[in-house]
Amino acid sequence: MTDTFARAVLEWFDEHGRKHLPWQQNITPYRVWLSEIMLQQTQVTTVIPYFEAFTQRFPQVQDLAAAPVDDVLHLWTGLGYYARARNLHKCAQLVVSEHGGEFPDTVEALSALPGIGESTAGAIVSIAFKKHAAILDGNVKRVLARYHAIEGWPGQSAPLKALWQKARLHTPKKRCNHYTQAMMDLGSMLCTRSKPACELCPVGDGCVARATGRQLDYPGKKPKKDKPVKQTYLLMLRAPSGELLLQQRPPTGIWGGLWSFPELALDQSVENYCHEHHGEALSLEYWDSYRHTFSHYHLDITPVLVQLAARGDKVMEGGGTLWYNVHQPEAVGLAAPVKRLLESLAQLDPLSQETL
Ligand code: SF4
Repeated sequence: MTDTFARAVLEWFDEHGRKHLPWQQNITPYRVWLSEIMLQQTQVTTVIPYFEAFTQRFPQVQDLAAAPVDDVLHLWTGLGYYARARNLHKCAQLVVSEHGGEFPDTVEALSALPGIGESTAGAIVSIAFKKHAAILDGNVKRVLARYHAIEGWPGQSAPLKALWQKARLHTPKKRCNHYTQAMMDLGSMLCTRSKPACELCPVGDGCVARATGRQLDYPGKKPKKDKPVKQTYLLMLRAPSGELLLQQRPPTGIWGGLWSFPELALDQSVENYCHEHHGEALSLEYWDSYRHTFSHYHLDITPVLVQLAARGDKVMEGGGTLWYNVHQPEAVGLAAPVKRLLESLAQLDPLSQETL
């Protein structure tokens, strides 16, 4: 028995659904497959001229299989996601070589072909072969996630499983082909991403998201990835006369071309580093760590104030280094955290200012 949800969707489809799209005429598995691949991530209005050009140039799957891949890519130009075009070509060749030029009529066999996922396979089985199969494309996910208030991002397995379960539950045995088309239409015409027309919706009475006013909360968004955390020492190497050693960073990468304190990985010994590169350190002062956030990661910075016994000539001669006087600052570009540290150092060292 057709459930009330499917009945309402089919009644709406009879009156409002799209029935004149090019791939809805002269329905064949080849034409349905071609349209379904083109419609992945692309709007109907964009797809129509491409569908017409492809079916004119390659009327049968054999024509597409025999064409050089460059011709296929050329005709695909502008549709984007070129992996789809390559898979389209590979799939056509397999249909010819492995299936005698006939598309298989089961979800399982279709899903084994390149570029055909379970939902696309379901659409081909239901629309082209008029057999019972559920679909779950982006439009259907949105309708079902809202109707049943299914929480979570459909890219994760639990929400996806719940959505498939509802998709199969509602898919009717009879008129499955129309129901498939109807659900795609409902999602793209009424249950749109940002402005669902709930007052026109045939299943609006039973929709949980509508009842709670939470339509835009479904389907759930992809969770933001936690940024990785990196850690570093920033070495504030102070000469006996009070200047601090700065190094210019490479032109690319973080703080590209700006002046910064030398960095040292946290698993390295500050003492050893200083001894090796700058001679004797009279004192080391570890300051509290703080976090600086970049677009792709957090950097936990531990500043270390190192009082050097002598100002090494070695670094003076080297390019890309300078001894910076916090009370007579040079006009150089400074990385933001370095600038803040230099300001703190200037406040800590009022004596040098007085003696200038
Ligand atoms: S009532 Fe609104 S949110 Fe619910 S399925 Fe219909 S259009 Fe989508």
